[in-house]
Amino acid sequence: MNACVDTAGIAQRVRWSALDNAERLRVLQRPGRDGAPALAQSVAAIVDDVRRDGDAALRAITARLDGVELQAFEVGEAEFAAAEAMVPVALREAMARAAARIEAFHAPGGLQEYSVETAPGVVCERLVRPIARVGLYVPAGSAPLPSTALMLGVPARLAGCAQVVLCTPPRRDGSADPAVLVAARMTGVHRVFKLGGAQAIAALALGTAEVPACDKVFGPGNAWVTEAKRQLAQAGDVAIDLPAGPSEVLVIADAGADAEFVAADLLSQAEHGPDSQVLLVSDAPALLAAVEAALARQLEALPRADIARQALQRSRLVEVEDLEDAFALSNLYAPEHMILALREPRRWLGRVTSAGSIFLGDHTPEALGDYCSGTNHVLPTDGAAHAWSGVSVAAFQKTISVQAATPAGIAAIGPDAVTIAAAEGLEAHANAVRLRLPEARA
Ligand code: NAD
Repeated sequence: MNACVDTAGIAQRVRWSALDNAERLRVLQRPGRDGAPALAQSVAAIVDDVRRDGDAALRAITARLDGVELQAFEVGEAEFAAAEAMVPVALREAMARAAARIEAFHAPGGLQEYSVETAPGVVCERLVRPIARVGLYVPAGSAPLPSTALMLGVPARLAGCAQVVLCTPPRRDGSADPAVLVAARMTGVHRVFKLGGAQAIAALALGTAEVPACDKVFGPGNAWVTEAKRQLAQAGDVAIDLPAGPSEVLVIADAGADAEFVAADLLSQAEHGPDSQVLLVSDAPALLAAVEAALARQLEALPRADIARQALQRSRLVEVEDLEDAFALSNLYAPEHMILALREPRRWLGRVTSAGSIFLGDHTPEALGDYCSGTNHVLPTDGAAHAWSGVSVAAFQKTISVQAATPAGIAAIGPDAVTIAAAEGLEAHANAVRLRLPEARA
């Protein structure tokens, strides 16, 4: 087999051991990277407009990009009531059960307060406080994601944030997706605004007459949303949760994996958007071939086949010599989602150094984590899992440190401060300690 073989136009098949380093990096390159400068420019223009003209800019941009003229962005009581009536009972109940599991998993995940006596008479403490004003973004461009409202709303409530504001794109008729509204209310979100894309992030970060400014913005979204978060955080306007852009999955499968299951998992990621990325890595050529066949078959039955096909064309099926190579590849890529379709998946967990969320074995499809296992689905993409984690209660909290010294305490540690301050040439620092030492007061 050559290093790269096109397989029926579904996804590119490559043999890892036949690639040099540059080729390997190309294979692992995310699809979204190509248009970066143009994207940055178009997002900067949107952010500038919102910064300058506030709500007037939001109105014009929403008309242009979402095709709807809105008088008011905020969702009122009548629209919430209509949404409650519209959402099927089965969906509401499934969301309520999912929210309960998300709460159960997230509740122990908050930051803990603690206190340590670091020297006799010197006590240091950590206090935990909720971030007061948080903005949640719930995507609804290609598909409304009420599950994202649960993933963000539940930890915000557990953290005790005082102002929880949610933005989601308006539909053509000017309404918000009813299931997103029901999910928002279910988790205790305080206010909802019909705004999408980079303009929603700019409104949450900068504030306008209608939309309250937030201290931190959370949530996934398409390339415009992610780029707006990056730019506004870099400018110092707002804190952000993490870079959570176009979704991606990496599956490591062995010879015993079920090809139909693996293909279904790859497609469930690919149908998110044409810029989603899926990677299958296996040491079993027969399994790779079986997955290719299953992909072609299952694709035909999907309503979003066109989107999935585009995503698959930029995805890869990688043949490796052994599973050690598969984990080395994966740690280089740092996938948002990682599925271990292996016979003894837990045995391999220790090999993983970077990933957003891991799904073990044949009966744990990524879709469980997307909706209702209890873990968060807002996860780092684009290699950010090298340094970032998914959303948790801790992301909605901040810590404040406290220290208190008694006279004996400053007598014990003060001389160290004087020595270090003198070495740094900061005499006023040294003096503030020296004045309080017992010899100065004697
Ligand atoms: P979205 O809500 O992120 O984006 C829709 C908005 O994009 C629209 O309201 C519009 O204002 C704006 N937009 C559309 N075309 C534009 C253009 N040409 N210029 C500027 N702005 C434009 O919804 P989406 O598009 O469906 O994307 C959702 C994304 O979220 C997907 O890529 C999915 O993979 C990702 N996602 C990621 C995670 C994660 O944790 N990383 C979780 C869920 C979803």
